[in-house]
Amino acid sequence: MLPPRLSDRSRRKAGRSAVRARQERSEVKAKVASGQIYLFDLFGDERDSIKRMKLADLLQAVPGIGSKRAELIMARSEISKSRRLGGVGRRQIEALRQEFLLMKNAPREGKLLVVSGPSGVGKSTITNKLRGDERFWISVSATTREMRKGEKDGIDYHFVSNAIFDEMVSTNAFLEWASFAGARYGTPRLAVEQALSKGLNVILEIELDGARQVRKNSKDALLVFIEPPSWEELTTRLIKRGTESEQSTQARLIRAKEELSAAAEFDHVLINHQVDQSVSELVSLALR
Ligand code: 5GP
Repeated sequence: MLPPRLSDRSRRKAGRSAVRARQERSEVKAKVASGQIYLFDLFGDERDSIKRMKLADLLQAVPGIGSKRAELIMARSEISKSRRLGGVGRRQIEALRQEFLLMKNAPREGKLLVVSGPSGVGKSTITNKLRGDERFWISVSATTREMRKGEKDGIDYHFVSNAIFDEMVSTNAFLEWASFAGARYGTPRLAVEQALSKGLNVILEIELDGARQVRKNSKDALLVFIEPPSWEELTTRLIKRGTESEQSTQARLIRAKEELSAAAEFDHVLINHQVDQSVSELVSLALR
């Protein structure tokens, strides 16, 4: 059957809206290319012209992505070549985000730094020294553990209930998460991605399971392991800190042995003899 004939007026109208749609698409591409629009914000764009835009075309507007790389990224995210923005599913968007984190020369300059090591080794003392340094951004994890005296919600952690943590897991809101000494801890994904896209070096201060997840998913991440000068020193520090119950201290010490034996999986090992020295070693690893 032949398509219905359009009157001259309807044809002119259709022509005008096609021109407008093309203009909108090219404006969006230019803004993505210059970094004025973050590609992932476009998945929520309600304009028909944007929903009908081919994802492959948009990806190629990102600096550093050519047709081959766009094809590869889409294949790895299990998105068909002809898919338009409006047809990309939630899981596919998440897969794409992972691809962006994985990409070498990704459209970001910041590095993803993982600082790990046994509880009590001084990781947070080291990373806290970099708060306020404009080259770094320290991720604030969500946790289900009780708040310690002196800790602040939203600064040391986002202290959340088990129900909220479950919801964050089910909505894929974590870059990684793990259980540790009776509580759960996770890195909120969105804040990390936003900081990286601003060119900041992002620091995650996390335990071993989480570090392994980051290693698997973000090939560009730099993993640094902090070791104590000796086992005795670690136990003394952990006990002296006095923040934990007897049960939690024991759980942490058992876990510490396991973590110490995994140091070789990391890109660098720093022995924390002295905090300021460890901070400057960490900075030079991050910025080299
Ligand atoms: P604490 O209870 O002493 O603050 O933290 C316990 C352990 O959980 C530490 O080794 C800390 O590095 C780790 N941790 C903190 N936040 C996260 C996170 O978001 N993910 C993972 N995997 N570990 C975390």
